[in-house]
Amino acid sequence: MQIKKLTREIRNKSLKKVKKRSPEELSTSWYQEDLLYQGRGPTLFMILPTGGCSWALSESGGCTMCSYINDSHVENVPARDIIPLFHEIMDKHTLEEPTAVKIFTSGSFLNPDEMPVEARREILQTLGEIENVAEVVVESRPEYVNREIIKECCSYLPDKIFEISMGLESASDHTREYKINKGFSKKDFEQAVEIIKDLKSEYKVRSKAYILVKPILTSEKQGIQEAIDSAIYAEKAGIDRISFCPATIHKGTLIEELWRKGSYQPPWIWSTIKIINQVREKVNIPAIMDTSGFGSRRGPYNCKKCNSKLKQMIIDSNLDQIPVKELECDCKNQWQVESSFCDIGRSTTRIRY
Ligand code: SF4
Ligand SMILES: [Zn+2]
Repeated sequence: MQIKKLTREIRNKSLKKVKKRSPEELSTSWYQEDLLYQGRGPTLFMILPTGGCSWALSESGGCTMCSYINDSHVENVPARDIIPLFHEIMDKHTLEEPTAVKIFTSGSFLNPDEMPVEARREILQTLGEIENVAEVVVESRPEYVNREIIKECCSYLPDKIFEISMGLESASDHTREYKINKGFSKKDFEQAVEIIKDLKSEYKVRSKAYILVKPILTSEKQGIQEAIDSAIYAEKAGIDRISFCPATIHKGTLIEELWRKGSYQPPWIWSTIKIINQVREKVNIPAIMDTSGFGSRRGPYNCKKCNSKLKQMIIDSNLDQIPVKELECDCKNQWQVESSFCDIGRSTTRIRY
């Protein structure tokens, strides 16, 4: 109960400070090479404006590490505003080869209160008619993964992969509830995965799990182990792909408050490498380590000498699904000590070089 109250207070405070942006200002798109189901390939990323994640706007205050709500319109955005912005993005890009289209809405694409049904239909129908769209990827909390809705979405994309990414974050219900304030259980997650698995005989529907690396109140050592265990669990549950999200300090979150007070530090980059290398050995589905924020003051960090090099090595390892090669650096010893012996949830006194 306490974590909800705290998160709600911090969220309210932060929402008051955020400068409200129009749907046009929030909508954006970019191209990047990424891992498709068929291997390396182009991906069109787009952010479509909505009213924002219902969970973050609820009494719960949302998840302890997430500030997506600050990138939302906060008030509902009607279909008549979303549809032209989507078409504007699609008109800007010519898809010359099989491409994945990733739609981010700073919340749940499948929640009709966030993404109006009319807009959802128009978006999927349009993508279904473009030959070089190979995959459509959306994000959703598991409670909106409903059999009828998924069937309808897939019916617009007959020959394309439709992937639903869900923020499992951790295989531990305790971590998800008390450290992340996620608001759903493993059982809820498994039900959603079952629905997707069940529809695979009829459609090219797939699922992805996001796993948070090092939630609050977690030591470096625990963070590594929990991320690996969560990937093993996700594969067993029937997930098709995994994406690790190493914690980064976003504004207006509980994680930021703890970081400011010296009670939290994002993971070492060495830890993310240990996780991805072990997962590549132990798990048979594709796994990505997201490198956003690596090497920055608020993100995963080693030292100035090795941050960028390791970041690039992880990106390559993601695209080819191969282990990250061994590299030596003076900072590695400190990480080894911290990640081997410290079992307390702080890792905060580290001086960053
Ligand atoms: S992580 Fe997802 S569910 Fe949690 S607050 Fe952010 S958008 Fe909402
Ligand atoms: Zn280093």
